[in-house]
Amino acid sequence: MQQYHKMDKVQIARINKYNVLRCLIRNGPINRAAIAKRADLSIPTVMSIIDDLFEKGMVRSMGKGESSGGKPPEMLEVVPDRFYYIGVDIGRTAVRVVVNDIISRQIACLQEPAGELFPEKEFVGRLCALVMQIYGPLHVEKDRILGAGIAMPGLIENETGNVLFSPDFGWNNIPLKSWLQASLPFPVIVENANRALALNESYVPGEEDHSHTTFTVNLGYGIGAGLIMGEDLYAGASGTSGEIGHITVDRGGPLCQCGNRGCLEAVASGAAIAGQGRRLAEQGMSPKLVEFCGGKPETVDAAMIFRAANSGDGAALEIIDTAAEYIGIGLSMAINVLDPDRVVLCGGLMRNGPLFFDRIKASLQRHQMRQTGRQMVLTAGAGGEYSTANGACRVLANSLWRRWALPI
Ligand SMILES: [Zn+2]
Repeated sequence: MQQYHKMDKVQIARINKYNVLRCLIRNGPINRAAIAKRADLSIPTVMSIIDDLFEKGMVRSMGKGESSGGKPPEMLEVVPDRFYYIGVDIGRTAVRVVVNDIISRQIACLQEPAGELFPEKEFVGRLCALVMQIYGPLHVEKDRILGAGIAMPGLIENETGNVLFSPDFGWNNIPLKSWLQASLPFPVIVENANRALALNESYVPGEEDHSHTTFTVNLGYGIGAGLIMGEDLYAGASGTSGEIGHITVDRGGPLCQCGNRGCLEAVASGAAIAGQGRRLAEQGMSPKLVEFCGGKPETVDAAMIFRAANSGDGAALEIIDTAAEYIGIGLSMAINVLDPDRVVLCGGLMRNGPLFFDRIKASLQRHQMRQTGRQMVLTAGAGGEYSTANGACRVLANSLWRRWALPI
């Protein structure tokens, strides 16, 4: 690790400008003196940076604020539609695309079923078409789009944006970033979908303290997680952290898509729950499921099983109970090891009423070591169905900020 940093005047000026812009984004409308105080800069430095941001069309006046004795100060805010981020959530069941402005407000969104996953190149071609479909009606120059953040389930090689392996998609060694970059007119960045989701869910509007540790678990078609420390994603030494779906919770249990047996994902994911429900319906063991699927067991999905459980079907409820029990076991391991401030449960399985959350919480309490995680707050995700796509925008934004790569 580098022990000493030496910065020249140009670098310091750049950092000061970034701090002023960040302050405007987080705290605007705000006056120059308040920016100077928050960013720990002199007022003349802030004034000169603001002049420069005015010239670049990045900041605008919001009129006079309240006076604290002297002349009322001019209130300033970032011009929110100066630049945009595009976020794409490549889900196993649906693809969702959003456009967010520079202050992270969602201004457009669309989604369509994921459809055929093969051939991979054709699938990626459809993704590009979707991105262009949302970009077209914006009628903005392409250099006002700061880039497209892509959230993809599976192991992603960060440097290349290649999908090394995606169990949900059955994809191996797909150069996703290169294929997208060849067709899209703005920069592309690819990140693991669970981490993108985690980044979005770790953000609490209005929160001033950005030092929390948030562990977000995505309970959907598959199961994954992301750890956010402060505002940073924890990737791990080889970029594979967060694979909570592939810890063994049932030795000798069912075969998982990753090749191991008894993984959490193999017993408690949306795909696993659906598979168990189909078998119940085939055997006629669940009257509600047989009724809901109209006698076609192959159409049973996880949502149908939740519906059956919610209407009192004992066999369906047992599937949900067992899945919640295993998820509680998996979470207890993570909490014992990580001791996070917050654990957020998200994903499609969480959109089936409070039944699942309550059962997971009860299982967690049974399995967690009593002394661990005493500060931990367990919540359901609040970001909604576009949370991962919004998280992909945040991944992109973080990357640009960290590389000092914003066009300011
Ligand atoms: Zn596995």
